[in-house]
Amino acid sequence: IRFEDFGLAPQILRALGDQGYVHPTPIQAEAIPVVLKGRDVMGAAQTGTGKTAGFSLPIIQLLLAHANTSMSPARHPVRALILTPTRELADQVAENVKAYAQHTPLRSTVVFGGMDMKPQTVILKGGVEIVIATPGRLLDHVEQKNINLGQVQMLVMDEADRMLDMGFLPDLQRIINLLPKQRQNLMFSATFSPEIKKLAGSFLKNPVTIEV
Ligand code: AMP
Repeated sequence: IRFEDFGLAPQILRALGDQGYVHPTPIQAEAIPVVLKGRDVMGAAQTGTGKTAGFSLPIIQLLLAHANTSMSPARHPVRALILTPTRELADQVAENVKAYAQHTPLRSTVVFGGMDMKPQTVILKGGVEIVIATPGRLLDHVEQKNINLGQVQMLVMDEADRMLDMGFLPDLQRIINLLPKQRQNLMFSATFSPEIKKLAGSFLKNPVTIEV
């Protein structure tokens, strides 16, 4: 199986060519078609398996396929939200998303704590389709009305087990309450504790389970 087989847009295939990727990893081979179909996903995957491209590539594809031309107030409302437990992971995911979307008109940015709010605010107010964030800092921007989550169509929780370990559950619940009810949800976790299963049960709709 090759990346060409998924029906991804030429701009995405070009970015994959730039990266030197030819063959999807096992989690990518499983996740990409499922996400493209619009299904929710519960993915059991460690870092290093290629899970980031597994969710980023189909998200970029779906956002391109449902391009919005005149959504107000911003012409670039946030349509995909990717939550991560740490700034390091947020940064890594953001670098990947930026690379995969580089030949598309989609904009992305990353927000995490410990960084000056102002430059992040300028970018958020300019409009971005894809936001990668740690939960606390995202809520700071929501409170300051720098970001509107009312048009988010896709939510990713990356390393959900670590987010729970770090005590982010209340923040995650607050964020979920700000999102439209109608949306696609993807959750990745290295472990499946009862707490993770409970979180999954509370926000995933009829998810496809992917284990690699
Ligand atoms: P991840 O598990 O998402 O952090 O990815 C692990 C590493 O594998 C990253 O450095 C990616 O750039 C790389 N990678 C992801 N998918 C592929 C692929 N299909 N072919 C080659 N390298 C990949």
